[in-house]
Amino acid sequence: MRVLLIYPVFPKTFWSYEKILELVDRKVLLPPLGLITVAAILPQKWEYKLVDRNIRNVTEAEWQWADLVIISGMIVQKNDLLAQIAAAKQRGKLVAVGGPYATTLPQEVESADFLILDEGEITLPMFVEAIEKGETSGTFRTQEKPSVTITPIPRYDLLELDAYDSMSIQFSRGCPFQCEFCDIIVLYGRKPRTKTPEQLLKELDCLYQLGWRRTVFMVDDNFIGNKRNVKLLLKELKIWQAEHQYPFSFNTEASIDLAADPELMELMVNCNFGAVFLGIETPDEESLEFTKKFQNTRSSLTESVDKIIRAGLRPMAGFIIGFDGEKKGAGDRIIKFVEEAAVPTAMFSMLQALPNTALWERLQKEERLLDTSEQDGNQTTLMNFTPTRSIEDIAREYIETFWQLYDAKVYLNRVYRCFIKLKEPPCKPPFQFPSLVDLRALAIVIWRQGIKRDTRWLFWPNLFSILKHNPGVWDRYLTICAHNEHFLEYRQIVRQQIESQLEVFLAASQKKEKQPELI
Ligand code: SF4
Repeated sequence: MRVLLIYPVFPKTFWSYEKILELVDRKVLLPPLGLITVAAILPQKWEYKLVDRNIRNVTEAEWQWADLVIISGMIVQKNDLLAQIAAAKQRGKLVAVGGPYATTLPQEVESADFLILDEGEITLPMFVEAIEKGETSGTFRTQEKPSVTITPIPRYDLLELDAYDSMSIQFSRGCPFQCEFCDIIVLYGRKPRTKTPEQLLKELDCLYQLGWRRTVFMVDDNFIGNKRNVKLLLKELKIWQAEHQYPFSFNTEASIDLAADPELMELMVNCNFGAVFLGIETPDEESLEFTKKFQNTRSSLTESVDKIIRAGLRPMAGFIIGFDGEKKGAGDRIIKFVEEAAVPTAMFSMLQALPNTALWERLQKEERLLDTSEQDGNQTTLMNFTPTRSIEDIAREYIETFWQLYDAKVYLNRVYRCFIKLKEPPCKPPFQFPSLVDLRALAIVIWRQGIKRDTRWLFWPNLFSILKHNPGVWDRYLTICAHNEHFLEYRQIVRQQIESQLEVFLAASQKKEKQPELI
């Protein structure tokens, strides 16, 4: 059986980082970990080719080669995912789909022959059995949450490694918390399931043998969901990293209670973790309680972020506007918080109700969901439900907040205030001469931020201050300064797209109001 795995295109999002990738001569931030895991679970006597459409198109020869096409993606990739099903069907291929989008909205992908839903460790063997019996369609589901200790090493060898900025790896699935808007706990449950340390180290061995030597993103939605097991892993990982001379730097996502565990932060930093994404959502305590994000109300969020920075982990954080009961000025309060806490990368969205979440169920009962089936739910789409305050006010605050957060000078200063107190990394990989690509990227950043734009009056004093007071972080500091090249473009996309959707929304609301009521 010849299997063509296709990963659909992402639209431009907060994380797509085109401008940065261009600078460092890469095409995509992260690889399709789900698809290469699928390829590892399926029979190894089958043959595989993988095309990440964020890198290139499928060639006609690849379409012709395939007996079976497997496509997987997230809701945000839905437009291209549906287009790829159509392209495969047009060529008479058997098509199977899986992944978070198909699992959440199977009715939208029924044009595929096979729907392999939920977790592949259970449903992929069901699919293989059906194929071996000669079946040509079917839907495979399970309520069971499998142990991830049985998950094989993903087929990293199928990737075009040079195209990616970071590699992905997964240690756990699931999260113990209960945030109302979260789909992770719907898809993967509230009991975190972890791999064994040996299993994860084998995956790192595989990446190492393939020649990977850059960042590895630990994709777990909450890396510290099972603190005991994470500490066991980190103790082993620390030895592995030292023995291999720190070939990888890691980033991950974690809940804010990380700040309350100095031992855990120290272990992470000693393994060469450099950054952590925190779901802060809002500094408004009532909104946090209303959305059941109680873990963020237990201690001061600003102090928690400060502890994380001082431990040596650069924070990235997610913020949301549009919670029920929210008072006017939520955007300004978020700006104030981001500035005070010195969070360089603040991902900011309007609240979206994702299908099957507790929020979705509640809004459905309250008849507040809007028909937005055309939307893909990224940061440039209007809310998909009627909020408790005017949608226009929320959208305008959102645009303004995004604009202010990523003003070139505001951003540069915020990065500086974070890095001046960021603890220097204790791990010292052997010195390597920077590549020509890195030197070119550095020259472009210096030209744009230190000479061409009026940020020059901040760029040089801030850089000299970092070199003088915290020299161990200067290279990471400049890398994060460079990220503003993406955000400066992205804030314009946010403004244009939200304003045009708002115009359509307001026109439709006015039309509705003018219609005479039927008696
Ligand atoms: S902490 Fe994050 S992953 Fe966990 S339930 Fe809340 S939003 Fe979801």
